[in-house]
Amino acid sequence: MEKSEPLAFLEHDHSQCRQTALKCANNQGLRLTKWRQLVLDLLLEDHRSMGAYEILNRLECNGVKPQPPTAYRALDFLVEHGLAHRIEKLNAYVACARPDACQSAGFIICKECNIVAEVECSPSSPELLRVAANVGFDAESTVMEVEGICSNCQNGN
Ligand SMILES: [Zn+2]
Ligand SMILES: [Zn+2]
Repeated sequence: MEKSEPLAFLEHDHSQCRQTALKCANNQGLRLTKWRQLVLDLLLEDHRSMGAYEILNRLECNGVKPQPPTAYRALDFLVEHGLAHRIEKLNAYVACARPDACQSAGFIICKECNIVAEVECSPSSPELLRVAANVGFDAESTVMEVEGICSNCQNGN
């Protein structure tokens, strides 16, 4: 089987990623207010994850400074509508790589370059979900995150 690397680790036409995300927001009829748009644009700049503080700092560097709750609300909105994901392990956010087709996402996180690649995969532990259901728990999600070193970084690129 040919090894195929997730898009995030490859050189690609990144403006395409941005267009897809914006088109998807449009198709869903989402209202991208100023802050939602600014935060989404930041996340779409590359496939790195960003913590809430970094997002606030970067916005400030760009000459706009929201109150922290405003930025958090914008992030919540983007996550809720599938335009961004929260990476639990890093306590950070990343733009959704396939907002038009994202069903069940897993994440491969490179510890060296901090690139987060989104991959499609089924829930990590059906077993855990089943146990949760058995005890009457209405499970919503399990976290699917793998940490390691991407092949670019292994090759010293
Ligand atoms: Zn996604
Ligand atoms: Zn890497």
